[in-house]
Amino acid sequence: MAVQVPFVYRRHQIGQLGNKISLAGKVGPDRATFAGYTEYKGVMHVHTFLGGHSTGTFDELITAANANDLDFVVMTEHYDPAYNTSALTLNGTFGKTLFVNGQEVDTNDGGRFLLLPGSPESPSFAKLDSKTFLDKIHSEGRIAINNYPDRNRSGIAGFDGMEAYSLHINFKQANIFTAVGDILWSLRSYPEATIASYLRRNDDYLARYDKVASEHRLLLTAGADAHSNKGYYLIADDEGNKHFGIKLDPYETVFRIVRMHVLLESGTPLSRESVIEALRGGHAFVGFDVLGESAGFRFWAESLSDADDQPTHTSGGTDIGSVPRRIMGDGVVLGGGIKLSVAVPTPARIVLLKNGVKVAEEPESREFSLNVSETGTYRIEAYLDRLGETFNKAPWIMSNPIYVR
Ligand SMILES: [Zn+2]
Repeated sequence: MAVQVPFVYRRHQIGQLGNKISLAGKVGPDRATFAGYTEYKGVMHVHTFLGGHSTGTFDELITAANANDLDFVVMTEHYDPAYNTSALTLNGTFGKTLFVNGQEVDTNDGGRFLLLPGSPESPSFAKLDSKTFLDKIHSEGRIAINNYPDRNRSGIAGFDGMEAYSLHINFKQANIFTAVGDILWSLRSYPEATIASYLRRNDDYLARYDKVASEHRLLLTAGADAHSNKGYYLIADDEGNKHFGIKLDPYETVFRIVRMHVLLESGTPLSRESVIEALRGGHAFVGFDVLGESAGFRFWAESLSDADDQPTHTSGGTDIGSVPRRIMGDGVVLGGGIKLSVAVPTPARIVLLKNGVKVAEEPESREFSLNVSETGTYRIEAYLDRLGETFNKAPWIMSNPIYVR
């Protein structure tokens, strides 16, 4: 009994967090547009039974994606020497959700990548070094996102993106004692809030991301690594064997936690190719939407000197007009200075980082602008500190950078 008292208190705290989160609710427009772009939300890094150590079925996956109003899901099935998992997984639109048939692949020098789209040759990539692999898949128009970047010890370079946050890694780093207590005491009543209470920024992965992105363009992504398995996140080994008989991480719950929002040029239909192009261009941001709907987040740049040199986008909807702009993922020339601007759908603490170092911070605001006069890779993190004491270490939003050169 003495052991259980803290979990009664934890359950109370988690219940309160659940109330705050549900009050945060949905604040953005149904289909946000900005400066000629239209926003779509989805989840990246999802497995099913096809690639081993998942029990998830296509039916569960489609039901959960549709129930969460996801516009897209990026599948990343493990490869199998006996069959082509990218051909067998979901590819195309099912209900209201587009599925993109990626894969998770290995190379012989310790590289691990999310490959979009997948390839029938994936099993053979395990025999290639990363450079040969990357040259090959780039020649085919595919992109590769390095995941588990801490395992990249051989200086692999030239990939298109990095998974700078993984829900799976986040939970592997959790306190197992607290986690087991929370599973028994809080998870059934407050599934989203229980998971949200564990969210933390991955300082190590983001430092690795910032180091590369300060030199080269690099897509920043967050992965659910969703397996819909019994205990994959909190208390199991990577094979997902140990459990309490509770499905801890059904797709439906995991799909509410962390999402990728991509910006397609307005008028461009949502398709496998357009999602991959938006990711390739870095026109995307990470939203921990369980904490509050992040749709409508914006990060853009305007030249202080020669604005007319930049392309003009026009669009309807809530577009704020025809002022020349570049958005996250784009490069801009410093020239006579650049004005960087941010808008968030609900007040948040807005942090501007340059090459991974905080250069400005704005408390509890919906908008923030700063004129910068130095080249660098600038990106945004936004925090909802008001949700509680750990949420100053758990970002709500992480943008892709604007590259001022
Ligand atoms: Zn995975």
